[in-house]
Amino acid sequence: MKQLVILSGKGGTGKTTVAAALAHLASEEMPVVMADADVDAANLELLLSPQVRETHDFAGGKLAIIDPDLCTACGICAEVCRFEAIIPGDDTYRVDDIGCEGCASCFYQCPTEAIRMEEHRDGQWFRSDTRLGPLFHAHLFAARENSGKLVTLVKQKARLLALDEGRELLIVDGPPGIGCPVIAASTGADLALLVVEPTISGIHDLERILATTNHFGVPALVCINKADINPSRADEIAAFCVAQGIALVGQVPFDTVVTEAMVQGQPVTEYDDGPVSRELRRVWERVKARLS
Ligand code: SF4
Ligand code: SF4
Repeated sequence: MKQLVILSGKGGTGKTTVAAALAHLASEEMPVVMADADVDAANLELLLSPQVRETHDFAGGKLAIIDPDLCTACGICAEVCRFEAIIPGDDTYRVDDIGCEGCASCFYQCPTEAIRMEEHRDGQWFRSDTRLGPLFHAHLFAARENSGKLVTLVKQKARLLALDEGRELLIVDGPPGIGCPVIAASTGADLALLVVEPTISGIHDLERILATTNHFGVPALVCINKADINPSRADEIAAFCVAQGIALVGQVPFDTVVTEAMVQGQPVTEYDDGPVSRELRRVWERVKARLS
């Protein structure tokens, strides 16, 4: 089983459009599993109309809870909390759920054992069926952390299913940026496809994500999305790829058909066979050749 991750140095480059198209094209040739690793703003599901088969809670960490019957309002917990997450009241203290980082300092310092640490429901993950194959996706609740842990969980579940069912390819739609969730999404990947736009920050974004994939030893290919909106920037990116010895596997043109496909809830390659889809088919052929 091979693992392909689609990444970009920032959001809004069309990464999910490319991921959905590759999932569609791959599914025509082999059994695939998909994982949406953008757990802060999952949107691969918008293009695949998933039927949710399983829903599970995700606990990213623990929160302190104060028992008001045991609290003597001594204030020690508020003094030791470095996150200012303990709020004094009239007769007792309470914990601010959003501010608590679960470090447990207050738990260890409370003289009356009024504080307990409890797992907190931070999100949910789902196993769904789609017309292209199984999809694992998740939703991290607002203001909750540990998205890297949730990404790892989603990927693990997808990988296990792929191994159990003998599916040949796991396609991971990665989160934007270069932070912890991106590292979680990239870990163990056989290949990363980096999607970049020809904007003023395009090369900078590409450099950042490339440094991340290089650091973790994941080979990378590059695809320029909406390449024709700024040909000179696209040329700069192409020259950068040559200088870095990275294959540029596609230059997808801008076309409103991408938006039309989204409105219809379909990967663009399933919706239309115009220039965008033809270029994405070329991208898939090159990705497939590299994977094999
Ligand atoms: S340390 Fe314990 S007893 Fe003191 S204010 Fe905090 S919860 Fe209440
Ligand atoms: S667990 Fe840590 S962060 Fe949370 S309230 Fe206690 S001391 Fe503050």
